[in-house]
Amino acid sequence: MTKISYHVARRKMVEEQLIARGIRDSRVIEAMEIVPRHEFVQEALAPQAHNDHPLNIGEHQTISQPYIVATMTEALALKGGEKVLELGTGSGYQTAILAMLADKVFSIERITSLSNKARQRLHRMGYQNVTLRTGDGSVGWPEEAPFDAILVTAASPGIPEALPEQLKEGGRLVIPIGSEEQQELFLVTKTAEGTQKKSLGGCRFVKLVGQYGFPEEKTGS
Ligand code: SAM
Repeated sequence: MTKISYHVARRKMVEEQLIARGIRDSRVIEAMEIVPRHEFVQEALAPQAHNDHPLNIGEHQTISQPYIVATMTEALALKGGEKVLELGTGSGYQTAILAMLADKVFSIERITSLSNKARQRLHRMGYQNVTLRTGDGSVGWPEEAPFDAILVTAASPGIPEALPEQLKEGGRLVIPIGSEEQQELFLVTKTAEGTQKKSLGGCRFVKLVGQYGFPEEKTGS
Protein backbone atom coordinates (compact mmCIF):
# COMPACT_ATOMS: atom_id res chain seq x y z
CA MET A 1 0.00 0.00 0.00
CA THR A 2 1.13 3.57 -0.63
CA LYS A 3 1.20 6.41 1.90
CA ILE A 4 -2.04 7.73 0.34
CA SER A 5 -3.82 4.38 0.62
CA TYR A 6 -2.82 4.08 4.31
CA HIS A 7 -4.31 7.53 4.80
CA VAL A 8 -7.54 6.33 3.14
CA ALA A 9 -7.49 3.15 5.28
CA ARG A 10 -7.22 5.26 8.46
CA ARG A 11 -10.10 7.51 7.39
CA LYS A 12 -12.26 4.43 6.69
CA MET A 13 -11.25 2.87 10.05
CA VAL A 14 -12.23 6.07 11.86
CA GLU A 15 -15.59 6.39 10.07
CA GLU A 16 -16.70 2.77 10.07
CA GLN A 17 -15.25 1.45 13.33
CA LEU A 18 -15.15 4.51 15.59
CA ILE A 19 -17.68 7.21 14.61
CA ALA A 20 -20.32 4.67 13.50
CA ARG A 21 -20.03 2.94 16.91
CA GLY A 22 -20.39 6.10 18.96
CA ILE A 23 -16.89 7.50 19.54
CA ARG A 24 -17.51 11.26 19.82
CA ASP A 25 -14.34 12.90 21.22
CA SER A 26 -13.06 14.86 18.22
CA ARG A 27 -9.48 14.92 19.59
CA VAL A 28 -9.43 11.10 19.86
CA ILE A 29 -10.86 10.78 16.34
CA GLU A 30 -8.28 13.21 14.96
CA ALA A 31 -5.36 11.47 16.70
CA MET A 32 -6.43 8.08 15.35
CA GLU A 33 -6.72 9.53 11.87
CA ILE A 34 -3.20 10.97 12.08
CA VAL A 35 -1.08 8.30 13.86
CA PRO A 36 0.22 5.84 11.20
CA ARG A 37 -1.01 2.59 12.78
CA HIS A 38 0.59 0.46 10.01
CA GLU A 39 4.05 1.55 11.26
CA PHE A 40 3.44 -0.14 14.63
CA VAL A 41 3.16 -3.69 13.23
CA GLN A 42 5.58 -5.92 11.29
CA GLU A 43 5.82 -4.99 7.62
CA ALA A 44 4.05 -8.18 6.52
CA LEU A 45 1.00 -7.27 8.64
CA ALA A 46 0.90 -3.58 7.68
CA PRO A 47 -1.88 -4.01 5.07
CA GLN A 48 -4.08 -5.48 7.87
CA ALA A 49 -3.24 -2.79 10.43
CA HIS A 50 -6.62 -1.01 10.10
CA ASN A 51 -8.77 -4.14 10.29
CA ASP A 52 -11.39 -4.41 13.02
CA HIS A 53 -9.42 -6.73 15.33
CA PRO A 54 -6.19 -6.96 17.36
CA LEU A 55 -2.97 -8.02 15.60
CA ASN A 56 0.05 -10.02 16.66
CA ILE A 57 3.13 -7.94 17.59
CA GLY A 58 5.37 -10.88 18.59
CA GLU A 59 6.16 -12.41 22.01
CA HIS A 60 2.51 -13.64 22.11
CA GLN A 61 1.31 -10.05 22.56
CA THR A 62 -1.07 -7.88 20.51
CA ILE A 63 -1.78 -4.33 19.37
CA SER A 64 -5.39 -3.74 20.46
CA GLN A 65 -8.39 -3.40 18.12
CA PRO A 66 -8.81 0.25 16.97
CA TYR A 67 -12.27 0.56 18.59
CA ILE A 68 -10.92 -0.61 21.96
CA VAL A 69 -8.05 1.91 21.75
CA ALA A 70 -10.58 4.68 21.00
CA THR A 71 -13.01 3.60 23.77
CA MET A 72 -10.30 3.48 26.44
CA THR A 73 -8.74 6.77 25.32
CA GLU A 74 -12.10 8.58 25.16
CA ALA A 75 -12.91 7.41 28.71
CA LEU A 76 -9.77 9.17 30.00
CA ALA A 77 -11.31 12.51 28.82
CA LEU A 78 -7.92 14.09 28.10
CA LYS A 79 -7.85 17.83 27.40
CA GLY A 80 -4.15 18.32 26.66
CA GLY A 81 -2.40 19.24 29.91
CA GLU A 82 -2.35 15.85 31.62
CA LYS A 83 0.36 13.56 32.92
CA VAL A 84 -0.60 10.02 31.91
CA LEU A 85 0.68 6.55 32.82
CA GLU A 86 0.17 3.58 30.48
CA LEU A 87 0.81 -0.04 31.55
CA GLY A 88 1.62 -2.30 28.58
CA THR A 89 3.52 -0.29 25.94
CA GLY A 90 3.40 -3.21 23.48
CA SER A 91 3.91 -1.76 19.97
CA GLY A 92 3.79 1.83 21.25
CA TYR A 93 0.64 2.66 19.21
CA GLN A 94 -1.57 3.53 22.18
CA THR A 95 1.38 5.45 23.65
CA ALA A 96 1.55 7.57 20.48
CA ILE A 97 -2.20 8.30 20.64
CA LEU A 98 -1.84 9.38 24.29
CA ALA A 99 1.21 11.51 23.41
CA MET A 100 -0.93 13.50 20.96
CA LEU A 101 -3.66 14.12 23.54
CA ALA A 102 -1.80 14.76 26.81
CA ASP A 103 1.21 16.76 28.01
CA LYS A 104 3.43 13.89 29.23
CA VAL A 105 3.14 10.13 28.84
CA PHE A 106 4.95 7.48 30.90
CA SER A 107 4.62 3.90 29.68
CA ILE A 108 5.86 0.59 31.11
CA GLU A 109 6.36 -2.70 29.25
CA ARG A 110 7.58 -5.92 30.90
CA ILE A 111 9.00 -7.57 27.74
CA THR A 112 12.38 -6.03 26.94
CA SER A 113 12.34 -6.70 23.16
CA LEU A 114 8.92 -5.01 22.76
CA SER A 115 9.94 -2.09 24.94
CA ASN A 116 13.14 -1.57 22.92
CA LYS A 117 11.30 -1.70 19.59
CA ALA A 118 8.63 0.72 20.80
CA ARG A 119 11.33 3.10 22.08
CA GLN A 120 13.13 3.13 18.71
CA ARG A 121 9.87 3.54 16.81
CA LEU A 122 8.52 6.41 18.93
CA HIS A 123 11.91 8.14 18.84
CA ARG A 124 12.14 7.80 15.04
CA MET A 125 8.61 9.17 14.69
CA GLY A 126 9.51 12.21 16.79
CA TYR A 127 7.36 11.78 19.92
CA GLN A 128 9.18 13.88 22.51
CA ASN A 129 6.76 13.79 25.44
CA VAL A 130 7.04 10.04 26.04
CA THR A 131 9.19 8.26 28.66
CA LEU A 132 9.40 4.46 28.56
CA ARG A 133 10.46 1.98 31.22
CA THR A 134 10.98 -1.78 31.03
CA GLY A 135 9.65 -3.74 34.01
CA ASP A 136 6.56 -4.73 35.98
CA GLY A 137 4.02 -1.95 35.54
CA SER A 138 1.51 -3.50 37.93
CA VAL A 139 3.28 -1.55 40.71
CA GLY A 140 2.80 1.71 38.77
CA TRP A 141 5.53 4.36 38.57
CA PRO A 142 5.69 5.86 42.10
CA GLU A 143 8.57 8.27 41.35
CA GLU A 144 6.46 10.04 38.70
CA ALA A 145 3.11 9.94 40.55
CA PRO A 146 0.58 11.48 40.87
CA PHE A 147 -1.01 11.05 37.42
CA ASP A 148 -4.15 12.61 35.95
CA ALA A 149 -4.93 9.38 34.11
CA ILE A 150 -3.76 5.76 34.09
CA LEU A 151 -4.48 3.33 31.26
CA VAL A 152 -3.93 -0.41 31.70
CA THR A 153 -3.80 -2.21 28.35
CA ALA A 154 -3.59 -5.76 29.71
CA ALA A 155 -6.12 -7.89 31.64
CA SER A 156 -5.88 -7.69 35.42
CA PRO A 157 -7.53 -9.93 38.06
CA GLY A 158 -8.42 -6.78 40.06
CA ILE A 159 -7.40 -3.15 40.51
CA PRO A 160 -3.67 -3.20 41.39
CA GLU A 161 -3.62 -1.46 44.79
CA ALA A 162 -0.74 0.85 43.81
CA LEU A 163 -2.69 2.47 40.96
CA PRO A 164 -5.47 4.46 42.71
CA GLU A 165 -2.78 5.67 45.15
CA GLN A 166 -0.84 7.10 42.18
CA LEU A 167 -3.85 9.01 40.79
CA LYS A 168 -4.66 12.65 41.54
CA GLU A 169 -8.06 13.39 43.05
CA GLY A 170 -10.47 13.53 40.08
CA GLY A 171 -8.03 11.30 38.15
CA ARG A 172 -9.24 8.46 35.91
CA LEU A 173 -8.07 4.87 35.58
CA VAL A 174 -9.21 2.65 32.70
CA ILE A 175 -8.58 -1.06 33.22
CA PRO A 176 -9.84 -4.45 31.95
CA ILE A 177 -10.70 -6.62 34.97
CA GLY A 178 -11.58 -10.31 35.00
CA SER A 179 -10.23 -13.77 34.26
CA GLU A 180 -7.45 -14.66 31.83
CA GLU A 181 -10.11 -15.51 29.21
CA GLN A 182 -12.58 -12.62 29.51
CA GLN A 183 -12.81 -9.23 31.16
CA GLU A 184 -14.95 -6.15 31.68
CA LEU A 185 -13.50 -2.72 30.96
CA PHE A 186 -13.87 -0.28 33.87
CA LEU A 187 -13.49 3.46 34.27
CA VAL A 188 -12.40 4.11 37.87
CA THR A 189 -12.55 7.73 39.06
CA LYS A 190 -10.73 8.82 42.22
CA THR A 191 -12.84 11.06 44.46
CA ALA A 192 -12.30 12.66 47.87
CA GLU A 193 -14.28 9.75 49.38
CA GLY A 194 -12.55 6.90 47.53
CA THR A 195 -13.17 5.53 44.04
CA GLN A 196 -16.19 5.21 41.72
CA LYS A 197 -16.35 2.40 39.17
CA LYS A 198 -18.29 2.40 35.88
CA SER A 199 -18.45 -0.47 33.38
CA LEU A 200 -17.58 0.26 29.75
CA GLY A 201 -18.51 -3.25 28.53
CA GLY A 202 -16.90 -6.61 27.84
CA CYS A 203 -13.43 -7.05 26.34
CA ARG A 204 -10.58 -9.50 25.87
CA PHE A 205 -6.94 -8.61 26.52
CA VAL A 206 -3.68 -10.47 26.96
CA LYS A 207 -2.87 -10.71 30.66
CA LEU A 208 -1.08 -8.31 32.97
CA VAL A 209 1.72 -10.41 34.43
CA GLY A 210 3.32 -9.19 37.62
CA GLN A 211 3.11 -8.52 41.34
CA TYR A 212 -0.48 -7.19 41.16
CA GLY A 213 -1.44 -9.02 37.96
CA PHE A 214 -1.49 -12.72 37.04
CA PRO A 215 1.45 -14.93 38.02
CA GLU A 216 4.08 -15.67 35.38
CA GLU A 217 3.61 -19.09 33.77
CA LYS A 218 6.21 -21.66 34.72
CA THR A 219 7.98 -23.23 31.74
CA GLY A 220 9.64 -26.66 31.62
CA SER A 221 8.83 -29.61 33.87
N1 SAM B 1 -0.90 -0.74 24.22
C1 SAM B 1 -0.31 -1.72 23.34
C2 SAM B 1 -0.24 -1.26 21.91
O1 SAM B 1 -0.80 -0.21 21.58
O2 SAM B 1 0.40 -1.97 21.12
C3 SAM B 1 -0.99 -3.07 23.42
C4 SAM B 1 -0.65 -3.75 24.65
S1 SAM B 1 -0.85 -5.49 24.69
C5 SAM B 1 -2.56 -5.70 24.54
C6 SAM B 1 -0.50 -5.71 26.42
C7 SAM B 1 0.95 -5.48 26.79
O3 SAM B 1 1.06 -5.49 28.20
C8 SAM B 1 1.88 -6.57 26.28
O4 SAM B 1 2.89 -6.00 25.49
C9 SAM B 1 2.44 -7.18 27.56
O5 SAM B 1 3.77 -7.63 27.45
C10 SAM B 1 2.32 -6.02 28.52
N2 SAM B 1 2.33 -6.38 29.94
C11 SAM B 1 1.80 -7.46 30.55
N3 SAM B 1 2.02 -7.41 31.89
C12 SAM B 1 2.71 -6.27 32.12
C13 SAM B 1 3.23 -5.65 33.29
N4 SAM B 1 3.09 -6.18 34.51
N5 SAM B 1 3.87 -4.47 33.15
C14 SAM B 1 4.05 -3.90 31.93
N6 SAM B 1 3.58 -4.44 30.79
C15 SAM B 1 2.91 -5.61 30.88
